[in-house]
Amino acid sequence: MRHIFLKPGRERPVLNGHPWIFSGAIATIEGDHESIGVADVLNDKQQWIARGLYNPKSQIRVRVLTWDKEPINRDFFSRRMAHALALRENYLSPTTTAYRLINGEGDFIPGLIVDRYNDFLVCQFFTSGIDFFKQDIVAALSDLVSAKGVFERSEGRVRDEEGIGPSVGILSGDAPPELIPIEENGYKFLVDVRRGQKTGFFLDQRDNRALLSALARGQTVLNCFSYSGAFSVYALGGGANKVISLDSSKPALELAEQHLALNGFATEQSELLKADAFTYLNECDTSFDLVILDPPSLAHKRNDVSAATGGYKFLNLHALQHIHPGGLLFTFSCSQHLSVDLFQKVVFGAAVDAGRKVTILKRLGPPIDHPVSLHHPEGEYLKGLVLRVLD
Ligand code: SAH
Repeated sequence: MRHIFLKPGRERPVLNGHPWIFSGAIATIEGDHESIGVADVLNDKQQWIARGLYNPKSQIRVRVLTWDKEPINRDFFSRRMAHALALRENYLSPTTTAYRLINGEGDFIPGLIVDRYNDFLVCQFFTSGIDFFKQDIVAALSDLVSAKGVFERSEGRVRDEEGIGPSVGILSGDAPPELIPIEENGYKFLVDVRRGQKTGFFLDQRDNRALLSALARGQTVLNCFSYSGAFSVYALGGGANKVISLDSSKPALELAEQHLALNGFATEQSELLKADAFTYLNECDTSFDLVILDPPSLAHKRNDVSAATGGYKFLNLHALQHIHPGGLLFTFSCSQHLSVDLFQKVVFGAAVDAGRKVTILKRLGPPIDHPVSLHHPEGEYLKGLVLRVLD
C-alpha cells in the first residue's frame, strides 16, 4: 500500500469531502510512487484520512474515493453504483429510457461517466486511476444493470492530461446498433454512440427542453447549436409554429431531420440550417419569438475564461437583437470555468449593448441524473437563463 502524506494544514479540504489532492498539497510519498493505483492519504501527523486513486503524472495526484477504510474493488464500485442507480430509478419518468447513470464526482466515482441509452451503456473513463479499474467497473455495471452491451467512448483533453490516449470500443456484450432508439419524456430520438458528440446525446438538457416545450405554443423558434434537434422536437411538441435548427455539423443536422420525422412533425414546420451561429446571428435580418443558445463550452481552461466571455457576449447580444418584444431567450453556458455569476454579468452586458430591457424568468441547470457533490462545486458546469425581452 502506498501512503501519501499531506503538508501541514492541507488536510482540511479532504476532510471536508473534496476529492482532489493536487501535487502541491503532498509532502512525501511512502511506497511505490511511480505507478497508478490505490493510495492511502494521511495528514502530517500520520493520521489516516482517506483512500483514493493515485496518478503520478496528473496534477491532481489523488482522487479520493472513500473516507472509510474499505477495500477498492468490484464490490466497492457495485455499492456506489447501486446508490447512483436508485436515484435514477426512483425519480426519473418511465417515459425516459436514456439518462446519466454515473456522473463522476457527483456520484462519488471521480473520473467515471456512464450514460444509459435504453439497453446499452456508454462509459467514459476520464482518469488513469479509474481506467485502472475498468474491468471491475464493467463487471459491477453488468451485475447491476441488465444491459445488452457496454460501449466505451473514452476520449478528449482530460485523458491527454492524465497521460493516457483515447480508448473506444465494445467493453462487454453486444455491439450497439448504428443508432440506438431512446425515448425522452415520450419523444423519440436516435443516438449514435460511436460518432455522436460526447456519448451521443445531451442528456443534461432534458428538463430544460421540457420547460421550453411548455412555453413554445404558437412561437417561431430559432434553435442555435441545435445538435440533433432535441430542443426543436420539444418546441414543435409544445405547439411551436415553426423551428429553425442551426448547427455547423452536417451529421448532427441529418439526425435532427430524422428526429423531426420520427416524432411526426411536418417538414414545412421545420428548417435545418448548416451555418456558423456567430455569423448567422450577426447577419440575420429576421426576428423570432424564442431563441435558444446552447453553444459548446467556449472555455476549456481557466485561462480561456476572459476570451470566452467575449464569445458568450457576442452570441447573447446578437440573439437579443433578434427577439420580438415579449419574446424569450433560453441561453446556456456549459463551461465549468465560467461561474453562474459571471455568466449572468456577461448576459447583462449583452442586454445593455443590445439596447434591450430584459427580465429573468428562470435559472436553469442540469437534471437530477447529473448530481453535483456539495463538496466538489467544480462539478457544476451547465447553467442557463430563461429571459424575457420587454421592448
Ligand atoms: N442543444 C443541443 C446540444 C448542443 S451541443 C442538444 O440539446 O442536443 C453544441 C453544438 O454546437 C454541437 O452540435 C456543435 O456541432 C455545434 N457547434 C459548434 N460550434 C458551432 C458554431 N460555430 N456554429 C454552429 N454550431 C456550432
